Amino acid sequence: MGWELLMSYGDLVRPTWLCRQPQRVQTVFRKSHAAGHNTVVSKARGGEEEGFAEAKADWRRSALTAGGQAQAALWASAERVREQIFGQRIFVRGVIEVANFCRQNCSYCGMRRENDALRRFRLAREVIRRVIDESLPPSVTDLNFQAGEDPVALRELVLPVIEEIAKEKRLGISVCLGTVDHRLYDELQQAGARGYIIKLETGDPEQYRLLQCPGRLERRLEAIRYLVRTGWCVSSGFIYGLPNQTLDQVIGTLDLLRSLSLCGCSVSPFIPGEGTPLSSEKRADLDQTLNAVAVLRLSSPRWVVPAVSALNLCDSSGYVRALRAGANLATINLTPGEWRGDYQLYRRKRWIMTEERVLQAIEQAGCQPSPQSWIAASSSFPPSADPI
Ligand code: SAM
Repeated sequence: MGWELLMSYGDLVRPTWLCRQPQRVQTVFRKSHAAGHNTVVSKARGGEEEGFAEAKADWRRSALTAGGQAQAALWASAERVREQIFGQRIFVRGVIEVANFCRQNCSYCGMRRENDALRRFRLAREVIRRVIDESLPPSVTDLNFQAGEDPVALRELVLPVIEEIAKEKRLGISVCLGTVDHRLYDELQQAGARGYIIKLETGDPEQYRLLQCPGRLERRLEAIRYLVRTGWCVSSGFIYGLPNQTLDQVIGTLDLLRSLSLCGCSVSPFIPGEGTPLSSEKRADLDQTLNAVAVLRLSSPRWVVPAVSALNLCDSSGYVRALRAGANLATINLTPGEWRGDYQLYRRKRWIMTEERVLQAIEQAGCQPSPQSWIAASSSFPPSADPI
């Protein structure tokens, strides 16, 4: 039994979302008696379609597991929606992984504090400055500072560097530094950071606890809400294909993410990490992870959705396919080569997205790099509800 996309989302999802009158879209399922299988039907709310007894059925459920033609239609719809909102422009940011110390102990992450095999580092300020001053690719409009949860690196490295570059450079500045004291969020913002990347990993409280995700889910949520409330452009995300993850947990996570007034959201495939308790688990299915990318785009069209480099660990085409499934942010890794291997989320041998690889992927996806910062673009959207 297959699922078929009858009307494209593109027929319904128009750039009216850029104005203050979003055209709400309802996506429903019905049995296609003629075809003898279930059919996904999208229609504008208030339309005339009848017989939607299963209207409440969650389209995301079959989208996440779609294969074959249904999957191709799903990705094509997501790509079209992205084009309608953002054109063929892909945002390009650079990431500098400034430290791999971490006080958390997430069971999926190679940087967990109990991974004694890892050589820990904090970059020197001058090293970070050199990257920014001497090797910033021209396509980069945004800089992201990422680290394990390490308040020392935050205070002593990231804060002073951001204070300097915010005055000197025209760059969107984001950070991904974990759940920390609210005062530190305020200080980062005062220094000039505008985007905060803080993933939920999973929105299921029990799974969150079992996987030893950062702190407690409630605290992570509270941090996200604080950041949103205080004017940050917040991007969150989750891991797809975690051991024993159910479709219900994924749907619940998607619902929770949608409730958070985010600017963006990512989905990363679960990769069993070396030196972690989950090292012998199965890695996520790439196609399903890409389906999740498409679902993010279709359910929240204005979100900035990154293509994550881990997709290329599943298959060398993963990154490009994510851009074709609705993603619209690419990341160039700017961490100096000497330290990259130690910033180990999965394994020492990483798939590094260089400028050349990123530009090639964008071209292969039929797109161009955006001249605009993703933070500036997101901030220009009106605060209206997205369709599901
Ligand atoms: N300390 C920051 C925080 O708490 O948000 C940065 C987080 S971590 C260094 C970066 C991200 O890598 C995590 O949020 C998680 O989503 C992802 N990650 C880590 N290990 C992973 C794995 N084995 N599979 C998939 N994603 C993983």
